[in-house]
This record gives sequence, C-alpha cells and structure tokens, in this order.
Amino acid sequence: MRKFIIGNWKMNGLSCDLDEIVTISAVAQLHTSVDSALCVPATLIERAVKAVGAFPIGGQDCHMHKSGAHTGCVSGDMLSDAGAVLTIIGHSERRAAQQEQDSDIRAKAEAAQAAGLKAILCVGETLEEREAGKALEIVLGQVAHSLPDAAAGGWLSVAYEPVWAIGTGRVAEPADVAEMHAAIRASLVARFGAEGEKIRILYGGSMNGDNAAILLAVPNVDGGLIGGASLTAAKFQPILAAAQAKGE
Ligand code: PEP
Repeated sequence: MRKFIIGNWKMNGLSCDLDEIVTISAVAQLHTSVDSALCVPATLIERAVKAVGAFPIGGQDCHMHKSGAHTGCVSGDMLSDAGAVLTIIGHSERRAAQQEQDSDIRAKAEAAQAAGLKAILCVGETLEEREAGKALEIVLGQVAHSLPDAAAGGWLSVAYEPVWAIGTGRVAEPADVAEMHAAIRASLVARFGAEGEKIRILYGGSMNGDNAAILLAVPNVDGGLIGGASLTAAKFQPILAAAQAKGE
C-alpha cells in the first residue's frame, strides 16, 4: 500500500504563507511513491488550489449538512467548490473544543463522501484513558461508531492520533502503535471484509523527520497525519523521504 502523508496546518496560514504551500507541494510531488496532501485553513483553500496546480489541498472539517443556518460552518459542497479534494473529520481538537460526538463525525464523513471528498477520520484516546488501560476500548469504540457503513472504496482513511501525542513532542511507542493499528485493522476487516484491508490507517502525533522512519515501518501504519512538522517544506520533506523509502 502506498503511504499517505498529510499535513494539517490547523489555524495557521495567511496570504503571506502561500509561497510556503507552493514549496511544500513542489517538494511533495518529487516523492512519487508517496500520496501526499495538505489541509489548510478554509480561507486559504481556493488560493492554495490555484497556486499548487494538481497537488491535493484539503479542508480540516466538514459540516454534516449541505447548506443552511449554521453560522461559521463550512459544508462539503463548499470545500469541493473551493477546489478541496479531501478533508479531515473528527480531529481530537474538534472533538474536545467543539464537543463533536461519534455520531456527528459519522454524519460529517457521510457528508464529505456525498460532496466527492476523501476523508481522513481521526480517532484517539486521552492520556487519562490510556493510563486507565482503556485505550483500545475507547479507540475501537470511536472506530465502530464514527465510521459510516460505506467506509470502504478508497475514499476514507483512519488516523490514529493519541491525544496526548498531538503537538506535545511526545510520541507513542512503536509497540503501542503496532498494537493499536493491528486492533483497528482487525475491526475494519471484521466489518468490511477484504475491503477493510485496503483502508489506510495513518498515525498522527508529533511525527517528524527524526521519528518518521520508525513509525512508518510499524505494521499497519499506512502513512501519517502531521501538524507542526508540516508547516514548512524543510520539516515536511524528511517525513516524505521516509515514506518514499518505505514505498520503494
Ligand atoms: C495533528 O494535527 O493531527 C497532529 C498530529 O499534530 P502534531 O504533528 O503537531 O502532533
């Protein structure tokens, strides 16, 4: 399976950062064995798409409704209309700050698919949940309840992102990543049969140029969702190179 490396710019990026987006896209496209994309703030999507040509640009959320009285929200059709081809759904920062529930995330994923977008659906446990020995139970519950029944077919990837590893510099141990990704894989196969083998499972949480090769070598790690280390081409490139080395 080709590795999928996605940058998540979160709430970072102004007009003056478009040049960096172009540089990132140019560098990413040199890694021809890797699928890559950059998820930018909604305000930058259209300009980023125009600036980068064929390189995939995505959003970071997608409302479950197509349109209507939802002030401040962005629908799948709006993302698609702006030129996005994918979106992140259910990031832990949204699960926490916007109280998004599994049922919301499932509806958002269905809305993204209906709008013709690929979706990166995030799951992950908090530190308290891991320390209580509940990590597998929590994450498998999120997988069961957040993923739509039509998750197979190549449009959806799952990102396992332990909450305590996001933006903290603290990375999950490869053995723990292996255990979690194997459990997610087993649940996908149990639900979707052979198609469940093809759903990419990404790791996210302080992945960078120093640890990417180790994390991307873990069985069932089919790529990465990268926050801080995707903000510059200089930091993103070593991750792409590590993925390229695994894909060859
Ligand atoms: C993320 O935003 O999904 C993420 C994993 O961030 P970071 O790489 O900064 O931990």
